Amino acid sequence: MIPFEEALAHVMKHVPSPRHEQVPLEEAVGRVLAEEIRAPRDLPPWNNSAMDGFAVRAADVTAATPANPFRLVVLETVAAGAMPSCRVETGEAIRIMTGAPMPEGADAVVIVEETEPGPDGDILIHSGVAPGENVRLKGEDVTEGQLMMPPGTLLRPGHIGMLASFGRSQLRVTRRPVVGILSTGDELVEVDQAPGPDKIINVNSHALAAQVKESGAIPVRLGIAKDTREATREGIREGLNCDILLISGGVSMGDFDYVREIMSELGGGLTFWKVRMKPARPLAFGPVSGVPTFGLPGNPVSSMVSFEVFVRPFIKKWMGHTHIERPVVQAALTEKVSKKPGRRFFLRALVENDGNGSYTCRTTGDQGSGVLTSMMLAEGLMELSEELDGPLQPGTRVPVRLLA
Ligand code: AMP
Ligand code: MG
Repeated sequence: MIPFEEALAHVMKHVPSPRHEQVPLEEAVGRVLAEEIRAPRDLPPWNNSAMDGFAVRAADVTAATPANPFRLVVLETVAAGAMPSCRVETGEAIRIMTGAPMPEGADAVVIVEETEPGPDGDILIHSGVAPGENVRLKGEDVTEGQLMMPPGTLLRPGHIGMLASFGRSQLRVTRRPVVGILSTGDELVEVDQAPGPDKIINVNSHALAAQVKESGAIPVRLGIAKDTREATREGIREGLNCDILLISGGVSMGDFDYVREIMSELGGGLTFWKVRMKPARPLAFGPVSGVPTFGLPGNPVSSMVSFEVFVRPFIKKWMGHTHIERPVVQAALTEKVSKKPGRRFFLRALVENDGNGSYTCRTTGDQGSGVLTSMMLAEGLMELSEELDGPLQPGTRVPVRLLA
């Protein structure tokens, strides 16, 4: 048996460098940037009004009050999207809308609520303003040439907005791998077939596809390979068109477990481990004809936990993510949990947050590797280290990887 960390480090060494592709801006959210983004211009591009009101010379209206309003001549109205055509001199104002460029001569905006229409189209100002008040300055947000997003940036909606403001309709991002999923087992039928007395439904194909999708990659379900050398070989060969291949089942020590044999036969570098973890002890990994291939255990819980701890980080790194780990919180157990030393336990956990940053957790119940309910309910995975010798008492704080 090998330690979990050693198996993970070996797997992660095989992540190829991210590849790039061009995508339209509207498809870029959630993707990882593969180029450097610098501001092509100042933002805002010119001084503009932050409010609807009147552009004035602040010095003209310093002492204005509702009881002693100052009367200014209104030269014109400037809407957002228009340019002022005249300069504001002493005693003058321009009616201005939010976002419209500030006219020459004016240095502040009196908001419309603090004014009142006067005689002859003039305006009465009820309140003084400081120079610069209600004005957004050219370049106050972003200056031309500023480094805004380094390569490797995960694009969130705020980044998309900024990129739009830079006029970027196309971007270079990292590619998302196509992940083939092959299930093995004579006992399996597809989800839309009646299972019959001796068959079970191919759960892993769908559960793994959902995990692949959630990790940001593209799943391709390759169906079921029967437990024969020929069918296993054919299934794996088909999967070699993908960027990453996942095979579930057939990696244990059973009489009909051909996955490891065929992975080796088709080329190279296969490693098979019994990893010191629970669940999901067996793991086969290696490049098969250059395609990183994972042989995952067949039990649905085991295959999903294996995916979570080995395949998900692999996919995230493949896509150039700099944060590949799930968030981990320290949570206090609300129940007693048994733990034997020797293997790292990944227990499916219910997690609660008290709203003040303190977390508590408990198991989802029965932790058998065939108990799919545990995965269905899991909000997190408690990670109990190899050497921990239980039982752990209520109140003990344990690390929990948050799953969503
Ligand atoms: P194996 O690793 O092939 O020995 O499978 C271990 C256990 O997981 C067996 O009880 C299988 O029936 C079950 N199993 C294997 N593959 C799947 C699958 N795709 N969906 C649901 N259960 C599976
Ligand atoms: Mg099997």
